[in-house]
Amino acid sequence: MKIAILPGDGIGPEIVEQAVKVLNALGESFELETAPVGGAGYEASGHPLPEATLKLALEADAILFGAVGDWKYDTLDRPLRPEQAILGLRKNLKLFANLRPAIMYPELAGASTLKPEVVSGLDILIIRELTGDIYFGQPRGVRECPDGPFKGEREGFDTMRYAESEIRRIAHVAFQAAQKRDKRLTSVDKANVLETFQFWRDIVTEVHKEYPDVALDHMYVDNAAMQLVRAPKKFDVIVTGNMFGDILSDQASMLTGSIGMLPSASLDANNKGLYEPSHGSAPDIAGKGVANPLATIMSAAMMLRYSLNKAEQADRIENAVKKVLAQGLRTPDIYEAGTTKVGTGEMGQAVLQALS
Ligand code: NAD
Repeated sequence: MKIAILPGDGIGPEIVEQAVKVLNALGESFELETAPVGGAGYEASGHPLPEATLKLALEADAILFGAVGDWKYDTLDRPLRPEQAILGLRKNLKLFANLRPAIMYPELAGASTLKPEVVSGLDILIIRELTGDIYFGQPRGVRECPDGPFKGEREGFDTMRYAESEIRRIAHVAFQAAQKRDKRLTSVDKANVLETFQFWRDIVTEVHKEYPDVALDHMYVDNAAMQLVRAPKKFDVIVTGNMFGDILSDQASMLTGSIGMLPSASLDANNKGLYEPSHGSAPDIAGKGVANPLATIMSAAMMLRYSLNKAEQADRIENAVKKVLAQGLRTPDIYEAGTTKVGTGEMGQAVLQALS
């Protein structure tokens, strides 16, 4: 199996190096091939997503991505900025399903802004549809208001829409992910107000017939936002559209209080995926050897589970991460008094040792 390794910019290369060490230690015969992306791609060949990098990503069975971006590229024309590489990869690889787990290890419960008893042991998965909804619907723009009380004024407008097949394919991803977990799925919508989301609800209910082992419930997005801070542990898997998912997944990630701990996956219809930490390239700490590599290491674990069908190896990595946290090892972003502060390389090495 071929894995494309795209370290990117800032802390990307440092944290990806640790995840690669872990992948190499699993005893599998993966073929890993590295290519520049983002600012590094621009420096290498004048484009954030060089042709050779895209070709590698298309050929590979899965992609491990670090992070892209640096303030020094802020003056470039928008199509040449590092962040365009992510959009290009999502589009070319048709990555329509974004999976973001929010896991709170009991050892880190003090890092959240919520009470430890509300978040300790939290383990939820948010699945966001990534390529449809009001973010991509046409027509959109600014025009002269054609009717109603504001007729003749300028108005901004967007189009919310979901095709049936778009809803079906994300629903399948969500039900299948729930089957691998606690078999509970909450579909979040706004069916009481929006036609698009009444349709969403109807289709998700239909797809449910194929997954009788999964318990499905529906929740309005305003209630879901409330429940996520009131009793987040009630959820197992949440599936929702692009806009609601954008907001709820950031809200859920902050329940854990530590951006350096959160992996993510973006999948296509065949479970090929791009795996990356939820955080950015952190130029403020790049090169200092203090970045937390655990989100990237756990992204590699997600890659094994969802794209490479190696669930036991994914479990091995996740258990190793739990073990190093239980040993009290902490990078500065998750450090608390009474624990042991370590750097990026030491944390990677500790996970490697805990693997065995
Ligand atoms: P950021 O996530 O890079 O950093 C936010 C804060 O979190 C910083 O203080 C940083 O030091 C800290 N942080 C992030 N990851 C950490 C880690 N693993 N360990 C310890 N601390 C960590 O967000 P930002 O500062 O808004 O953006 C920086 C750059 O990253 C920008 O160029 C932005 O466009 C880019 N970005 C890229 C991605 C991506 O590649 N997917 C996502 C978000 C932002």
